[in-house]
Amino acid sequence: MSAAVSKGSNRVAIRRCAMPADPVCKMELSEEDAEATAEYKGMTYYFCSEACKEAFEHAPERFVKKTA
Ligand SMILES: [Zn+2]
Repeated sequence: MSAAVSKGSNRVAIRRCAMPADPVCKMELSEEDAEATAEYKGMTYYFCSEACKEAFEHAPERFVKKTA
């Protein structure tokens, strides 16, 4: 009798709107995973690395969707 369980189908992709994502490289991050954060126009953005944060801070308007 095999106790092996197929793990592949067990993982459900849960997409929350509030899931922070690195706006530079689009990597999804949890707040705990973020290596760096930056605030821009009252929003906090999370980054996988200092390099992504620096890229964002050089030109945040390139990475933030404009809301009318
Ligand atoms: Zn990144």
